Amino acid sequence: MSYDISANTRSLYIHWPFCPYRCHYCPFVALASHDPFMERYHHALVKEIKNFARNYTEKLPLDTIYFGGGTPSTYPDHLLLDMFAILREFFIFDENTEITLEVNPGTVRFEQLELWKKLGINRMSVGVQSLNDSVLHKLNRLQKATDVYSLLEKAPHYFDNISVDVILGLPEVTIAEWKQLLATVVTWKITHLSMYVLEVHDSTPLFFNVTSKKVTLPCDDDVVDTYHWSREFLESHGFMQYEVSSFARAGKESRHNTTYWERKPYRGFGLGACSFDGISRLQNEKNLMKYLESIEQDRYQPPFTETITKDQIYAEKIMLGLRRIKGVCWEEISSDLSEEQKEKVTTVIATLQQKKLIVENNGRLQLTPAGLVVENEIITRLSL
Ligand code: SF4
Repeated sequence: MSYDISANTRSLYIHWPFCPYRCHYCPFVALASHDPFMERYHHALVKEIKNFARNYTEKLPLDTIYFGGGTPSTYPDHLLLDMFAILREFFIFDENTEITLEVNPGTVRFEQLELWKKLGINRMSVGVQSLNDSVLHKLNRLQKATDVYSLLEKAPHYFDNISVDVILGLPEVTIAEWKQLLATVVTWKITHLSMYVLEVHDSTPLFFNVTSKKVTLPCDDDVVDTYHWSREFLESHGFMQYEVSSFARAGKESRHNTTYWERKPYRGFGLGACSFDGISRLQNEKNLMKYLESIEQDRYQPPFTETITKDQIYAEKIMLGLRRIKGVCWEEISSDLSEEQKEKVTTVIATLQQKKLIVENNGRLQLTPAGLVVENEIITRLSL
C-alpha cells in the first residue's frame, strides 16, 4: 500500500533524527552520537521527497512544512540549503506557508537565524522545557538556561512567530519554581506555548529510574492543580488555550498541528515519519540502516501501513477532536455509528455530563477544565 497521491496534501513533515544527547524521557525516533550519518541521511531524505513529488505532474502547493525531530536545528547549513532548493523545485510555498523548525537552544549559532529566515522558515519551535539546568542535566538534557535566554533575546529580531515548549511535572521542580518559569516565559516575544505534562514512557531511562525509585515524580494532585493554575495564568497573559497542551496569541495557533487534529492529509519523510492520506496511515522505517539502505537501493516501502476502519475513524475523531477546546461535532462523529453504538456512547456522554467532565455546546462535545486533565480516561470510556 502506498500514499494516495490524489489526496489533497498541503502539509509536509520532515524528520531530522539527530540529537546532541538522548534525554531520559524521550519517546521519539531520535539518535545521539550518529552525526557522521547526517549527510547520507539528508541524501536519503531528498530521494524520498523526489520519489514522492515525481508522482505529480505539477508542483504541489503547500500550506505547512514542519521540520521536527530529533533536533532539526543541527541540520548542517549546506545541507539545509540543498533541502530548500529541492523543496522549491517540487513544491510551491511562500511567506504565507507556515514553515516551522524545531530548535534546541544549546545547538544554535546565531548566524543560523539569518540563514533560516532567508530560506523561508518563518516559525521556530524552541524546546525550553525548564530553566533549571540541574533538573535538566539529571534527565540528560544537557542544555543551559543561559542558552535559552540568549536565543529568546535574539530570535525575535528574525522571527515574529515563535513557540516554546515547557514540561510540567519534572522531578524536583517546585510549584513556586514552575510559576516563576511561566512568569518569565510570558515576558518573551513569543506567540505560542506548548505545555506538556511529563509522561513516563516504557523502556526509557526515566521509566527505569522511576520504577527503581531513583527518581521521584511530583504527586498527581499537585500536577493537576498546577495545570489549572497555568491555564488561567497563560490566558490572563493573552495566550488562549486551544488544545490540551497548546496556547496561542490570537491567530497564531499551529496550522501544522491543526492539520493532524482535523485529520487532513499530510506526508511525512524520514526516519519513523508518519503520513496520512485521508484513508490510510503509513509509518516509515525506524531503523536508520534499514531506512538508508532501502532508499539507496530503490526498494523502499513503509513497513507499517493501515487502512482506517469506520470504528477507527470514530475513535480518531473522538481522540483528536476532544483534545481541542472547540471540541468535536457530535453529528459528524456519530454519523457512521450503528444504533447500538450510538446508544452506548450517548449513555457514557450523559454520565460524563453529570460528572461535569464534558459539556454539549451548539452540537459540539467539549471537555470541561476538569475533563481536560483526564482526557485519556474519557477517550477510553467513549471507545466503542
Ligand atoms: S532533544 Fe528532543 S528528540 Fe532529542 S533526545 Fe531530547 S527530547 Fe528526544
